[in-house]
Amino acid sequence: MGLENKVALVTGGGRGIGRAIALAFAKKGADIVINEIDMPAAEKVVAEVKALGCRSIGVKADVSIKKEIEGMVETAIKEFGKIDILVNNAGISIVGPSEELEESRWNKGIGIDLNGVFFCSQVVGREMINRKRGNIINIASIAGIGALPIRATYCTAKGGVIMLTKSLACDWARYNIRVNAIAPGYIKTEMVEDLIKKGQYDEEALARRAPAGRMGLPEDVANAAVFLASDESDYIAGHTLVVDGAWSVYSYLQSWLDEGRK
Ligand code: NAD
Repeated sequence: MGLENKVALVTGGGRGIGRAIALAFAKKGADIVINEIDMPAAEKVVAEVKALGCRSIGVKADVSIKKEIEGMVETAIKEFGKIDILVNNAGISIVGPSEELEESRWNKGIGIDLNGVFFCSQVVGREMINRKRGNIINIASIAGIGALPIRATYCTAKGGVIMLTKSLACDWARYNIRVNAIAPGYIKTEMVEDLIKKGQYDEEALARRAPAGRMGLPEDVANAAVFLASDESDYIAGHTLVVDGAWSVYSYLQSWLDEGRK
């Protein structure tokens, strides 16, 4: 599953799942463009990729602003000549009761989590169409499959990403471009670890909720991304690969579990 001679652009690649994907791709030989709004974080990952013997640059751009996406893609192509793999990973989670949600917060969440995925795909996709090859991997969420309370913006955006993945796969298969998504469950990133430390998340409860008995790790998602990026998944397109330790397929039995049944 080598990715030698490939160039991958990972949005929001400065930490968490994006960082793990960037490092996993680099271990398979790919050169990496790290997109971020947080450039010190991006530069740390760029150094980690270089330490693995691959080329890497950091590019600042807010994925919710199309002009910035165009600048990012121009910079990446100037540096590496092409983009073989796009990972639409940048995302934020808007939390709060729907009846109180301000217009600006709804627009921000949809702007980054859904519009960002579309416009990054469109701008990079045009380059891929010219080359008649490409691979796009969208990081969705199990929150795009089953609804979670007080997360209407996030769930709607991620549900949209899953449908967008199908739509783009249909549009661009004729150009030899595959588009797939990954829907992670709760993944133990730095951010989630911070929330656990602050007492806002209960790690044991989260681990118990997944029948696998543990939270996911960024590497669990990265391994799935390596598979989707590789030629071994050549006939897989428009698919959403769920990486959640069986959380989402089990969740509607939760009340049954809560009753103490085994
Ligand atoms: P994270 O917050 O740790 O990292 C996201 C990165 O994206 C940050 O470095 C941030 O600076 C960057 N970013 C934010 N807004 C940006 C923008 N407008 N333009 C460019 N970069 C931006 O998040 P994470 O947990 O690693 O999540 C990565 C992706 O995985 C997100 O799409 C998230 O919704 C999804 N996801 C995460 C989990 C989880 O449990 N961590 C579960 C399911 C899905």
